[in-house]
Amino acid sequence: MIEKEKIIETGWNFDNSYADLAESFFTRINPTPVKSPKLIILNSPLAKSLGLNVEALQSNNSVDAFAGNNVPKGSEPIAQAYSGHQFGHFTMLGDGRAVLLGEQITPSGERFDIQLKGSGRTPYSRGGDGRASLGPMLREYIISEAMYGLGIPTTRSLAVITTGESIIRETRLAGAILTRVAASHIRVGTFQYVSKWGTVEKLKSLADYTIQRHFAYIKNDENPYISLLKEVINGQAELIAKWQLVGFVHGVMNTDNMTISGETIDYGPCAFMDAYNLKTVFSSIDLHGRYAYGNQPDIAAWNLARFAETLIPLIHENQDKAVELAKNAVLDFTKLYHNNWMAGMRSKLGLFNEEAQDESLIEDLLSMMEKYSVDYTNTFRALTFDKIEDTALVNKTEFTKWYDLWKRRLGRQQQSKDESHGLMKKSNPSVIPRNHRVEEALEAAVEKGDYSVMERLLNALLKPYSYSPEQEEYSKLPAASTCSYRTFCGT
Ligand code: AMP
Ligand code: MG
Repeated sequence: MIEKEKIIETGWNFDNSYADLAESFFTRINPTPVKSPKLIILNSPLAKSLGLNVEALQSNNSVDAFAGNNVPKGSEPIAQAYSGHQFGHFTMLGDGRAVLLGEQITPSGERFDIQLKGSGRTPYSRGGDGRASLGPMLREYIISEAMYGLGIPTTRSLAVITTGESIIRETRLAGAILTRVAASHIRVGTFQYVSKWGTVEKLKSLADYTIQRHFAYIKNDENPYISLLKEVINGQAELIAKWQLVGFVHGVMNTDNMTISGETIDYGPCAFMDAYNLKTVFSSIDLHGRYAYGNQPDIAAWNLARFAETLIPLIHENQDKAVELAKNAVLDFTKLYHNNWMAGMRSKLGLFNEEAQDESLIEDLLSMMEKYSVDYTNTFRALTFDKIEDTALVNKTEFTKWYDLWKRRLGRQQQSKDESHGLMKKSNPSVIPRNHRVEEALEAAVEKGDYSVMERLLNALLKPYSYSPEQEEYSKLPAASTCSYRTFCGT
């Protein structure tokens, strides 16, 4: 008897609503095929949540789809057009090395962009080769999954393949493609692009599309466009507070790298801070510290002002009135951000209620961390377990005083010690993707083809608040100082 070949459906269920917008918003283009694709890593839990079949995704046909050698059924690939302020300078950009395959509609009816990053040249490539290399794509995979584990809104990574081709940077590197999953890829820069080169009708169509896709509940508001602005401002106030609370430095907060959905996007030169310092910068090109850790909230406000400017023609027919409404909304960012940050910091210190002096209590702790260059994550970890002997602050008289004030402050709330401890455990990760750990994982993967180090790291990063014994090693600091840790853009 001949056994029938078992055909497993992959589960792709594409809609292409972005491709229904005006043609000037994008260019229809297929990914450029590559020589010999090989699947390096597949995110099974994410695949399942998208309604995809993990076994089928590992077939040659699916790996070819991750490589851009074939286009899955139902996909209408496009490269999206956008502009952006890069380090303060306005430029035309667009997907220069990415294509959007379409939007996967999940079994529960959610919609996610599926994008190939590193998929070849497009009309927006300028001088670039349209390609990406293995190290940086695995790095994006690791950090985006770490952010997800930390509960921070983020694009996610479904798969990385190698192309079997080499790309030229400073040296020859293995080419790779990342499959990125996002609530959408609509950026502040997308609005800037349409505002600069499109008509008001086109701008309205983008705003209406965005509202429908991300904020359908404001559709019938009296002024949906000011509501849109406020929603985006709120989302960023929450997001940036979450970054600050875990010590994440994005590194390249250009307006094209700020999403409208409120997800973190574009993991280029980002990294996590070890010792607390507001001036922390990792990116090799950020010479003046524009995107330093401590500047992130101000930069977010600046980017949101650029977003607000694009909406002026939609907000009110009277331009002065529109400007005033937009300006007030942007001015609210600082307060909204601060509220989110204070709420997060109170949780990190086990505080349930609010007292007027809380801010100075928090600031005093941070100043001590900065003054004595102590590790941010591990200081909160030591406080969580009341093991202050684990922090280098333990011998400082100012810390002893602070500790006493904090203990008394805890005593003034109704909640028990156990409840405070529980809140702190949920708010202070023990595991973050420390630079030396990420480098170690990437080196094993890229230099030796050994992916086990990365897999172990990823497992630990998915449960950053579990404090399990096997995760202990990931909270250890690097032997030498990481002051000179440098990250790179456009790799
Ligand atoms: P990023 O710094 O990754 O946010 O990218 C900024 C812009 O440069 C975007 O328009 C990218 O599509 C483009 N870009 C980055 N790397 C390449 C490359 N290798 N080839 C073509 N375009 C690129
Ligand atoms: Mg970008």
